[in-house]
Amino acid sequence: MSNRRFTAIKEALSHLPLDVNINKAKVSEYYGINVFNDRAMREYLPDDVYKSISQNIEKSKTIENRVADQVASAMRAWAISKGATHYTHWFLPLNGATAEKHDAFYSPSSDNRNIEQFDGSKLAQQEPDASSLPSGGLRNTFEARGYSAWDPSSPAFILENTLCIPTIFVSYTGDALDFKTPLLKTLNVIDEVATDVCQLFDRSITHVFSTLGWEQEYFLVDDALYHARPDLVMTGRTLLGHAPAKGQQLEDHYFGAIAPRVRAFMTEFEFEAWKLGIPVKTRHNEVAPNQFELAPVYEEANIAIDHNQLVMVLMEKIARKHRFRILYHEKPFAGVNGSGKHNNWSLATNTGKNLLSPGHTPKTNLLFLTFFVNFIKAVYRHSDLLRAVIASAGNDHRLGANEAPPAIISIFIGSQLTKVLEDLEKKVKDRKMTPDEKTELKLNIGKIPQIILDNTDRNRTSPMAFTGNKFEFRAVGSSANCGPAMIVLNSILAEQLGEFKATLDKAMEKGEDKDEAIFRILRDYIIESKPILFEGNNYSEEWVIEAEKRGLSNNKNTPDALKAYVSKSTKKLFAKHNIFTEKELEARWEIRNENYAKVIQIESRVLGDLAGNHIIPTAIKYQNTLVENVKGLKEILSAEQFEKQAEVQNHIIGKISEHIIEIRKDVKDMIEKRKEANVIEEADKMALFYCNEVKPYLDKIRYHVDKLEILIDDEMWTLPKYREMLFIK
Ligand code: ADP
Ligand code: MG
Repeated sequence: MSNRRFTAIKEALSHLPLDVNINKAKVSEYYGINVFNDRAMREYLPDDVYKSISQNIEKSKTIENRVADQVASAMRAWAISKGATHYTHWFLPLNGATAEKHDAFYSPSSDNRNIEQFDGSKLAQQEPDASSLPSGGLRNTFEARGYSAWDPSSPAFILENTLCIPTIFVSYTGDALDFKTPLLKTLNVIDEVATDVCQLFDRSITHVFSTLGWEQEYFLVDDALYHARPDLVMTGRTLLGHAPAKGQQLEDHYFGAIAPRVRAFMTEFEFEAWKLGIPVKTRHNEVAPNQFELAPVYEEANIAIDHNQLVMVLMEKIARKHRFRILYHEKPFAGVNGSGKHNNWSLATNTGKNLLSPGHTPKTNLLFLTFFVNFIKAVYRHSDLLRAVIASAGNDHRLGANEAPPAIISIFIGSQLTKVLEDLEKKVKDRKMTPDEKTELKLNIGKIPQIILDNTDRNRTSPMAFTGNKFEFRAVGSSANCGPAMIVLNSILAEQLGEFKATLDKAMEKGEDKDEAIFRILRDYIIESKPILFEGNNYSEEWVIEAEKRGLSNNKNTPDALKAYVSKSTKKLFAKHNIFTEKELEARWEIRNENYAKVIQIESRVLGDLAGNHIIPTAIKYQNTLVENVKGLKEILSAEQFEKQAEVQNHIIGKISEHIIEIRKDVKDMIEKRKEANVIEEADKMALFYCNEVKPYLDKIRYHVDKLEILIDDEMWTLPKYREMLFIK
């Protein structure tokens, strides 16, 4: 009988690198050709309409119907000229995926001629219904309609004959049902508040926007092997599998030469991404075998997030063509690194300045320090919310494990800036400073090096690291939408800057000198926020103890971490800036809890099935062959000889029985626990129950299965092993 594992291995080995037939022209010649970008707008729109729409986009103003109509017909003409037959509103619902509902341009007309139609009203708003997407109770059936509305700030693009128009997605009652709606709100808020603060230093700054450069990590697995692993197909991660003799210990994968099959995939993917105007730039092997990273040049946050979602979809499509499957799961394989999505975040101004980049004069550096210190304070105040926002069942496996930041949020700023903050703390006086003292301070901050020594001064273990001109939020999971992390970073900084400005205004009203007041307020913030700064090894045991002393939270699992999502301070923060109503926040919290419970539920079911119909039958089969062997030996050997010669067989027979008894018992108990879990009504309580009562069985069962994997005849084992899945040649 053929073993399906060997069939899959054979098939995988027959997969050769595809010939990638791509345009050999310079990238600049085809970059963005599938995007309705500025160039396309100029070409397809009358001058006055082009001007009006560009200005509206820049100033985030509403677009009039007349203009929308003209943009729609230009988009249609452009898309049809490129072979598009359909259009769709493209949005980012709360299940973390992208949603599309395609309609054909063509519609039959009354005189039986078919015409291509698409007007402003269809561009501006649609009612895709989409009632099966998660809403956390925001949509009762009688008002189940969901609306999508055009986001003109993110350009439309063509994907496989379909014009995709980025939109927001809201309910009939106006509640946000997606990641984009609240993000756009935070972009406006941070613009307003940060511009206000910038005005204290530089009158020419009239617009501030957040920038995001994400780094996407992922694993590739051969398609045939993937399909021979029901756990990968159903849950995106391996629920069992003994560690291979060689993992990542030789560190030979990281930055290594990219295997030809993988290169072919990357080459084709990059070609498609460039045509879509996605500035992908960096590609390399990551630490774990079969793990890779992709990073673009950073962009304005809204566009960067759309691009990340688009990249995830695009990579998946192209990977399949190359007979790969992409795993975006945070921990697809135990024992080797998991995958994250580092979010490099900063703020930029209309004047081309990066607000987190030290300048070369005391004035620009005071501006830098103002943002820098306020950011530290904001993270300190809302570290629990930052932990909550990255919480997911998948990320729980990663945080605190191999090379991933721990579940404790802290900030690394490097020795040079630590010194600058210490200086400020020491030298700023409570009383009025003498002119000499002031000059000295200014001289000192003028000395902040513009290019902060980066690599030598780098801490890769920190969940939030300052890397010279941006903060890198590393705790975000590889499968996550960057939106929630960006929403929180923008909101907490906006809140903090607002308070800073109010405190400063008060001090100045009392007659305090502006610079002096800024110095003093920043010094107070530095003192207050110190516990969040940590320069040491975040992976160490000592840090866990130290962090506890400092009063920092260490929420190791999602249901616990999620509590901060609906805490008083979170509700206050979002309500103050009209980002989320309490109802919207609670809906999101519920969806996350539900998702957590469902993920563990599915994993538990899959593992139960695999144990029952793959593992135990295979173990018994092998045990039978041993039993036959023992019986035979008994027949032909003397009692004394038998005892000696059948020892190994008897030992394995016993071990197999031990393990299958344990597996059977654990699976039964796990099912009982699931039954208890499934009748719990509140989503948070159900999630917590799944976490504490069901999840532990996954590890227990796996332990025994993995022991069996190394006991049982390799020829009989039905599931591809780690060593077979993890080393693409
Ligand atoms: P590393 O892997 O060492 O962290 P990478 O070069 O892979 O570094 O990634 C750095 C990321 O940071 C890139 O996506 C880059 O575009 C982004 N980045 C650089 N400057 C900024 C900025 N001002 N704002 C946001 N992201 C930035
Ligand atoms: Mg990085």
